[in-house]
Amino acid sequence: VAKTSGKGRCEAFQPSHHADHLERERLQAGLYQALERHELVLHYQPIVDLASREINGYEALVRWQHPERGLVPPAQFITLAEDSGLIVPIGRWILREATRQAAAWQRIDGRAPRMSVNVSVCQFRHPDLVDDVTEALRASGLAPDRLTLEITESLFAQDTTGTTLKLEQLKALGVRLALDDFGTGYSSLSYLRRFPIDILKIDKSFVDGVATSCEDRAVIGAIVALGQTLHLDLVAEGIETAEELAALEALGVQSGQGYHLGRPAPPQYASPGAERRRSGSPGTALRSAPAP
Ligand code: C2E
Ligand code: MG
Ligand code: MG
Ligand code: MG
Repeated sequence: VAKTSGKGRCEAFQPSHHADHLERERLQAGLYQALERHELVLHYQPIVDLASREINGYEALVRWQHPERGLVPPAQFITLAEDSGLIVPIGRWILREATRQAAAWQRIDGRAPRMSVNVSVCQFRHPDLVDDVTEALRASGLAPDRLTLEITESLFAQDTTGTTLKLEQLKALGVRLALDDFGTGYSSLSYLRRFPIDILKIDKSFVDGVATSCEDRAVIGAIVALGQTLHLDLVAEGIETAEELAALEALGVQSGQGYHLGRPAPPQYASPGAERRRSGSPGTALRSAPAP
Protein backbone atom coordinates (compact mmCIF):
# COMPACT_ATOMS: atom_id res chain seq x y z
CA VAL A 1 0.00 0.00 0.00
CA ALA A 2 2.78 2.42 0.90
CA LYS A 3 4.52 1.80 -2.43
CA THR A 4 1.47 2.63 -4.54
CA SER A 5 0.84 5.91 -2.75
CA GLY A 6 2.70 9.07 -3.77
CA LYS A 7 6.46 8.88 -3.49
CA GLY A 8 6.82 11.98 -1.33
CA ARG A 9 4.20 10.76 1.08
CA CYS A 10 5.87 7.39 1.29
CA GLU A 11 9.24 8.92 2.16
CA ALA A 12 7.75 11.29 4.67
CA PHE A 13 5.93 8.48 6.42
CA GLN A 14 8.24 5.51 6.30
CA PRO A 15 11.37 6.79 8.02
CA SER A 16 9.52 7.93 11.13
CA HIS A 17 7.48 4.73 11.22
CA HIS A 18 10.69 2.76 10.89
CA ALA A 19 12.31 4.79 13.67
CA ASP A 20 9.34 4.14 15.97
CA HIS A 21 9.59 0.46 15.26
CA LEU A 22 13.34 0.38 15.93
CA GLU A 23 12.88 2.37 19.12
CA ARG A 24 10.28 -0.11 20.30
CA GLU A 25 12.51 -3.08 19.47
CA ARG A 26 15.43 -1.55 21.35
CA LEU A 27 13.35 -0.84 24.45
CA GLN A 28 11.85 -4.31 24.25
CA ALA A 29 15.27 -5.99 24.03
CA GLY A 30 16.41 -3.96 27.04
CA LEU A 31 13.31 -4.83 29.01
CA TYR A 32 14.12 -8.54 28.70
CA GLN A 33 17.30 -7.91 30.65
CA ALA A 34 16.01 -5.18 32.94
CA LEU A 35 14.77 -7.63 35.56
CA GLU A 36 17.91 -9.75 35.82
CA ARG A 37 20.09 -6.61 35.73
CA HIS A 38 18.08 -5.16 38.62
CA GLU A 39 17.18 -2.05 36.61
CA LEU A 40 13.54 -1.95 37.74
CA VAL A 41 12.86 0.06 40.88
CA LEU A 42 9.75 0.85 42.87
CA HIS A 43 8.88 4.32 44.07
CA TYR A 44 6.28 4.78 46.77
CA GLN A 45 3.63 7.48 47.00
CA PRO A 46 1.91 8.02 50.36
CA ILE A 47 -1.87 7.53 50.65
CA VAL A 48 -2.98 10.00 53.28
CA ASP A 49 -5.99 10.37 55.58
CA LEU A 50 -7.33 13.77 54.52
CA ALA A 51 -8.65 14.77 57.96
CA SER A 52 -5.65 13.79 60.11
CA ARG A 53 -2.96 13.97 57.38
CA GLU A 54 -1.62 10.66 58.62
CA ILE A 55 -0.09 8.27 56.12
CA ASN A 56 -2.34 5.21 55.80
CA GLY A 57 -0.25 3.43 53.24
CA TYR A 58 1.65 3.64 50.00
CA GLU A 59 1.16 2.90 46.33
CA ALA A 60 4.09 1.14 44.67
CA LEU A 61 4.87 2.65 41.24
CA VAL A 62 7.43 0.99 39.01
CA ARG A 63 10.23 2.82 37.16
CA TRP A 64 12.96 1.56 34.89
CA GLN A 65 16.41 2.83 35.79
CA HIS A 66 17.72 2.60 32.23
CA PRO A 67 21.53 2.62 31.78
CA GLU A 68 21.36 5.27 29.02
CA ARG A 69 17.94 6.88 29.29
CA GLY A 70 17.77 7.49 33.01
CA LEU A 71 14.55 6.95 34.91
CA VAL A 72 11.90 5.71 32.44
CA PRO A 73 8.25 6.16 33.59
CA PRO A 74 5.83 3.20 33.45
CA ALA A 75 3.76 4.78 30.66
CA GLN A 76 6.74 4.13 28.36
CA PHE A 77 7.20 0.43 29.08
CA ILE A 78 4.14 -1.18 30.74
CA THR A 79 2.31 -1.60 27.39
CA LEU A 80 5.50 -3.04 25.91
CA ALA A 81 5.72 -5.44 28.84
CA GLU A 82 2.09 -6.45 28.34
CA ASP A 83 2.50 -7.03 24.59
CA SER A 84 5.56 -9.25 25.12
CA GLY A 85 4.17 -11.16 28.11
CA LEU A 86 7.04 -9.79 30.22
CA ILE A 87 4.44 -8.18 32.47
CA VAL A 88 4.01 -11.55 34.22
CA PRO A 89 7.59 -11.95 35.54
CA ILE A 90 7.84 -8.17 36.03
CA GLY A 91 4.53 -8.08 37.91
CA ARG A 92 5.65 -11.02 40.03
CA TRP A 93 8.81 -9.12 40.98
CA ILE A 94 6.76 -5.98 41.78
CA LEU A 95 4.47 -7.98 44.12
CA ARG A 96 7.51 -9.56 45.85
CA GLU A 97 9.38 -6.28 46.22
CA ALA A 98 6.42 -4.15 47.40
CA THR A 99 5.37 -6.71 50.05
CA ARG A 100 8.98 -7.13 51.15
CA GLN A 101 9.26 -3.34 51.56
CA ALA A 102 6.00 -3.08 53.55
CA ALA A 103 7.18 -5.87 55.87
CA ALA A 104 10.56 -4.14 56.28
CA TRP A 105 8.80 -0.87 57.21
CA GLN A 106 6.73 -2.81 59.72
CA ARG A 107 9.94 -3.95 61.43
CA ILE A 108 11.16 -0.33 61.66
CA ASP A 109 7.87 1.32 62.53
CA GLY A 110 6.07 -1.34 64.56
CA ARG A 111 3.02 -1.43 62.34
CA ALA A 112 2.73 -2.41 58.70
CA PRO A 113 1.61 0.27 56.29
CA ARG A 114 -0.96 -0.70 53.70
CA MET A 115 0.68 -1.37 50.35
CA SER A 116 -1.10 -0.90 47.02
CA VAL A 117 0.16 -2.68 43.91
CA ASN A 118 -1.11 -2.06 40.37
CA VAL A 119 -2.11 -5.18 38.45
CA SER A 120 -2.48 -4.82 34.70
CA VAL A 121 -5.16 -6.65 32.72
CA CYS A 122 -2.72 -9.20 31.20
CA GLN A 123 -1.27 -9.97 34.59
CA PHE A 124 -4.74 -10.34 36.07
CA ARG A 125 -5.85 -12.78 33.37
CA HIS A 126 -2.70 -14.88 33.62
CA PRO A 127 -3.21 -18.21 35.47
CA ASP A 128 -0.23 -17.52 37.80
CA LEU A 129 -1.64 -14.39 39.49
CA VAL A 130 -3.22 -16.00 42.55
CA ASP A 131 -0.09 -18.12 43.15
CA ASP A 132 2.14 -15.07 42.70
CA VAL A 133 0.17 -13.07 45.28
CA THR A 134 0.14 -16.04 47.69
CA GLU A 135 3.88 -16.48 47.29
CA ALA A 136 4.62 -12.76 47.81
CA LEU A 137 2.61 -12.77 51.04
CA ARG A 138 4.31 -15.96 52.24
CA ALA A 139 7.84 -14.79 51.42
CA SER A 140 7.37 -11.34 53.01
CA GLY A 141 5.28 -12.42 55.99
CA LEU A 142 3.03 -9.38 55.34
CA ALA A 143 -0.53 -9.78 56.65
CA PRO A 144 -2.85 -10.19 53.63
CA ASP A 145 -5.12 -7.33 54.70
CA ARG A 146 -2.16 -4.94 54.36
CA LEU A 147 -1.98 -5.64 50.63
CA THR A 148 -4.29 -3.89 48.15
CA LEU A 149 -4.40 -4.85 44.48
CA GLU A 150 -5.38 -2.04 42.10
CA ILE A 151 -7.31 -3.12 39.03
CA THR A 152 -9.13 -1.09 36.38
CA GLU A 153 -12.67 -1.04 35.04
CA SER A 154 -11.43 -2.37 31.69
CA LEU A 155 -11.36 -5.83 33.32
CA PHE A 156 -15.16 -5.81 33.39
CA ALA A 157 -15.53 -5.29 29.66
CA GLN A 158 -15.24 -9.02 28.91
CA ASP A 159 -15.20 -12.49 30.49
CA THR A 160 -17.13 -11.48 33.60
CA THR A 161 -17.40 -15.08 34.82
CA GLY A 162 -13.62 -15.59 34.76
CA THR A 163 -13.12 -12.16 36.28
CA THR A 164 -15.55 -12.80 39.14
CA LEU A 165 -13.91 -16.13 39.91
CA LYS A 166 -10.40 -14.62 39.99
CA LEU A 167 -11.54 -11.69 42.16
CA GLU A 168 -13.14 -14.11 44.61
CA GLN A 169 -9.95 -16.21 44.76
CA LEU A 170 -7.96 -13.07 45.54
CA LYS A 171 -10.48 -11.97 48.19
CA ALA A 172 -10.21 -15.43 49.75
CA LEU A 173 -6.50 -14.73 50.35
CA GLY A 174 -7.56 -11.76 52.48
CA VAL A 175 -6.22 -8.97 50.27
CA ARG A 176 -8.18 -5.82 49.43
CA LEU A 177 -9.23 -4.80 45.93
CA ALA A 178 -9.28 -1.25 44.61
CA LEU A 179 -10.76 0.07 41.38
CA ASP A 180 -8.16 2.45 39.92
CA ASP A 181 -9.01 5.49 37.73
CA PHE A 182 -12.66 5.10 38.76
CA GLY A 183 -15.09 6.95 36.52
CA THR A 184 -13.04 6.89 33.33
CA GLY A 185 -13.74 3.42 31.96
CA TYR A 186 -16.61 0.99 31.61
CA SER A 187 -19.82 2.82 32.38
CA SER A 188 -22.14 0.21 33.93
CA LEU A 189 -22.20 0.46 37.70
CA SER A 190 -23.93 -2.89 38.22
CA TYR A 191 -20.60 -4.68 38.55
CA LEU A 192 -19.88 -2.75 41.75
CA ARG A 193 -22.57 -4.84 43.44
CA ARG A 194 -21.48 -8.10 41.83
CA PHE A 195 -17.72 -7.89 42.23
CA PRO A 196 -15.97 -7.88 45.63
CA ILE A 197 -14.42 -4.40 45.38
CA ASP A 198 -13.31 -2.63 48.61
CA ILE A 199 -12.00 0.73 47.40
CA LEU A 200 -12.76 3.24 44.65
CA LYS A 201 -9.90 5.45 43.53
CA ILE A 202 -11.46 8.63 42.17
CA ASP A 203 -9.66 9.51 38.95
CA LYS A 204 -7.49 12.62 38.84
CA SER A 205 -9.57 14.07 35.99
CA PHE A 206 -12.45 14.68 38.46
CA VAL A 207 -10.12 15.86 41.22
CA ASP A 208 -8.63 18.47 38.86
CA GLY A 209 -11.96 20.30 38.72
CA VAL A 210 -13.18 19.76 42.27
CA ALA A 211 -12.23 23.25 43.48
CA THR A 212 -13.51 25.09 40.40
CA SER A 213 -16.26 23.15 38.64
CA CYS A 214 -19.76 22.44 40.01
CA GLU A 215 -20.04 19.50 37.62
CA ASP A 216 -16.87 17.81 38.88
CA ARG A 217 -17.96 18.50 42.46
CA ALA A 218 -21.33 16.88 41.71
CA VAL A 219 -19.66 13.82 40.18
CA ILE A 220 -17.47 13.36 43.25
CA GLY A 221 -20.49 13.93 45.51
CA ALA A 222 -22.26 11.13 43.67
CA ILE A 223 -19.23 8.84 44.05
CA VAL A 224 -19.17 9.60 47.80
CA ALA A 225 -22.87 8.65 48.06
CA LEU A 226 -22.20 5.48 46.07
CA GLY A 227 -19.29 4.63 48.36
CA GLN A 228 -21.43 5.07 51.47
CA THR A 229 -24.26 2.96 50.10
CA LEU A 230 -22.03 0.13 48.90
CA HIS A 231 -19.57 0.38 51.85
CA LEU A 232 -16.59 1.22 49.70
CA ASP A 233 -13.61 3.26 50.87
CA LEU A 234 -12.65 6.22 48.70
CA VAL A 235 -9.22 7.47 47.69
CA ALA A 236 -8.88 10.62 45.59
CA GLU A 237 -6.01 10.56 43.09
CA GLY A 238 -3.80 13.42 41.91
CA ILE A 239 -4.44 16.07 44.59
CA GLU A 240 -2.18 18.95 43.59
CA THR A 241 -3.44 21.93 45.61
CA ALA A 242 -4.66 22.85 49.10
CA GLU A 243 -7.96 23.97 47.50
CA GLU A 244 -8.54 20.53 45.98
CA LEU A 245 -7.73 18.91 49.31
CA ALA A 246 -10.20 21.15 51.19
CA ALA A 247 -12.97 20.60 48.63
CA LEU A 248 -12.53 16.81 48.74
CA GLU A 249 -12.57 16.77 52.53
CA ALA A 250 -15.74 18.88 52.56
CA LEU A 251 -17.37 16.38 50.17
CA GLY A 252 -16.59 13.53 52.58
CA VAL A 253 -13.70 11.80 50.79
CA GLN A 254 -11.61 9.99 53.43
CA SER A 255 -8.21 9.67 51.85
CA GLY A 256 -6.13 10.73 48.93
CA GLN A 257 -2.80 10.97 47.24
CA GLY A 258 -1.14 13.57 45.05
CA TYR A 259 1.84 15.86 44.66
CA HIS A 260 0.37 18.19 47.31
CA LEU A 261 0.56 15.39 49.88
CA GLY A 262 3.69 13.60 48.70
CA ARG A 263 5.33 12.61 45.44
CA PRO A 264 6.30 9.06 44.54
CA ALA A 265 9.81 8.58 45.94
CA PRO A 266 12.43 5.85 46.41
CA PRO A 267 11.92 3.84 49.62
CA GLN A 268 14.57 5.65 51.65
CA TYR A 269 12.65 8.93 51.17
CA ALA A 270 9.16 7.46 51.34
CA SER A 271 9.52 5.38 54.52
CA PRO A 272 7.35 6.34 57.50
CA GLY A 273 10.46 7.49 59.38
CA ALA A 274 11.64 9.64 56.48
CA GLU A 275 8.81 12.09 57.24
CA ARG A 276 10.56 12.93 60.50
CA ARG A 277 14.07 12.79 59.07
CA ARG A 278 13.61 15.11 56.13
CA SER A 279 13.37 18.83 56.61
CA GLY A 280 11.51 19.62 53.38
CA SER A 281 7.78 20.18 53.39
CA PRO A 282 5.43 17.43 52.24
CA GLY A 283 5.04 17.57 48.49
CA THR A 284 8.70 18.35 47.92
CA ALA A 285 9.90 16.61 44.78
CA LEU A 286 12.04 13.65 45.70
CA ARG A 287 13.59 11.98 42.72
CA SER A 288 16.48 9.62 42.44
CA ALA A 289 19.39 10.88 40.39
CA PRO A 290 19.29 9.71 36.78
CA ALA A 291 21.94 7.22 35.74
CA PRO A 292 25.10 8.76 34.24
P1 C2E B 1 -1.99 4.95 38.44
O1 C2E B 1 -1.95 3.63 39.10
O2 C2E B 1 -3.32 5.62 38.33
O3 C2E B 1 -0.96 5.84 39.25
C1 C2E B 1 -1.10 7.22 39.46
C2 C2E B 1 -0.15 8.02 38.59
O4 C2E B 1 -0.34 9.41 38.84
C3 C2E B 1 1.33 7.76 38.88
O5 C2E B 1 2.04 7.94 37.67
C4 C2E B 1 1.67 8.89 39.85
O6 C2E B 1 3.05 9.20 39.89
C5 C2E B 1 0.86 10.01 39.26
N1 C2E B 1 0.51 11.04 40.23
C6 C2E B 1 0.34 10.93 41.56
N2 C2E B 1 -0.03 12.10 42.13
C7 C2E B 1 -0.09 12.98 41.10
C8 C2E B 1 -0.41 14.39 41.03
O7 C2E B 1 -0.72 15.05 42.03
N3 C2E B 1 -0.38 14.95 39.79
C9 C2E B 1 -0.04 14.25 38.67
N4 C2E B 1 -0.02 14.89 37.50
N5 C2E B 1 0.27 12.93 38.70
C10 C2E B 1 0.24 12.32 39.91
P2 C2E B 1 3.13 6.89 37.19
O8 C2E B 1 3.95 6.41 38.33
O9 C2E B 1 3.83 7.49 36.02
O10 C2E B 1 2.25 5.66 36.72
C11 C2E B 1 1.36 5.77 35.64
C12 C2E B 1 0.53 4.52 35.50
O11 C2E B 1 1.36 3.40 35.15
C13 C2E B 1 -0.18 4.11 36.77
O12 C2E B 1 -1.37 4.86 36.96
C14 C2E B 1 -0.43 2.65 36.50
O13 C2E B 1 -1.55 2.47 35.67
C15 C2E B 1 0.82 2.25 35.73
N6 C2E B 1 1.77 1.64 36.67
C16 C2E B 1 2.63 2.25 37.52
N7 C2E B 1 3.30 1.34 38.24
C17 C2E B 1 2.84 0.13 37.87
C18 C2E B 1 3.13 -1.22 38.27
O14 C2E B 1 3.94 -1.48 39.19
N8 C2E B 1 2.46 -2.23 37.62
C19 C2E B 1 1.54 -1.96 36.64
N9 C2E B 1 0.93 -3.00 36.07
N10 C2E B 1 1.25 -0.72 36.26
C20 C2E B 1 1.88 0.32 36.86
MG1 MG C 1 -2.78 2.85 40.73
MG1 MG D 1 -5.06 5.92 38.85
MG1 MG E 1 -5.41 19.74 39.77
